[in-house]
Amino acid sequence: MKIILLGAPGAGKGTQAELICKKLNIPQISTGNIIRAALKAGTPVGLKAKSFMDAGKLVPDEVVIEIIQERLAEADCKNGYILDGFPRTIPQAEALEKMGIAIDKVIDIVVDDAEITERLSGRRVCDKCGATFHIKNNPSTAGEKCDKCDGNLIIRKDDMPETVQDRLKTYHEQTEPLEGYYNNKGILHTIVGKGDISDITAHVFKALEV
Ligand code: ADP
Ligand code: ADP
Ligand code: ZN
Repeated sequence: MKIILLGAPGAGKGTQAELICKKLNIPQISTGNIIRAALKAGTPVGLKAKSFMDAGKLVPDEVVIEIIQERLAEADCKNGYILDGFPRTIPQAEALEKMGIAIDKVIDIVVDDAEITERLSGRRVCDKCGATFHIKNNPSTAGEKCDKCDGNLIIRKDDMPETVQDRLKTYHEQTEPLEGYYNNKGILHTIVGKGDISDITAHVFKALEV
């Protein structure tokens, strides 16, 4: 199954992707995680992406499209995958089609801007494995450390309040139009993203019919 997770920054895409992956045994492909890893490693892609990411803007389409093309060619993608954070623009969605990829379902997780702002202010991520936590809503059972790999929990630079407002603006302008795009194809499933993480997972599984 090939699935797209759509939603604003902080809507819970990463959190739900982790749970869907486990259930369906397919990889989670997060362009954000790939770009952050490239940045950390100091690769040309990472260097190119840094200023956009720091400013809460999207990395140029041609850069992310190349990243996704390479990733989807890897062996673990042959039985399907969950795209978390890609596509984020209409040209990115069109690029997927041009690659001959037929998406089965698009899960759109909808959360209002006020809740997003609260969530991102409390988000903590593991600097080793990328796992996501929230200081109140979803804390690590290992306190200040990641309960999956013992890595350090950090605040993403782009989760600072000023940048979050820019990211929300970017989302509404450039990513939200994808709802109409996929609705027209008849594969959009809208899910209310507020409430217990496990309840939302149940709704996602229902939409996926798994
Ligand atoms: P979020 O928590 O906002 O969903 P991500 O980790 O998915 O965050 O993305 C972080 C940043 O990485 C984005 O603000 C953007 O700069 C860049 N990025 C990730 N995916 C894409 C994409 N598909 N197109 C352009 N930029 C992207
Ligand atoms: P995205 O990948 O869409 O940016 P995340 O999965 O990283 O979103 O979630 C953003 C933040 O909100 C994280 O700190 C996460 O722990 C928290 N979170 C995720 N789902 C929920 C939920 N249903 N209720 C409250 N907080 C949540
Ligand atoms: Zn970890």
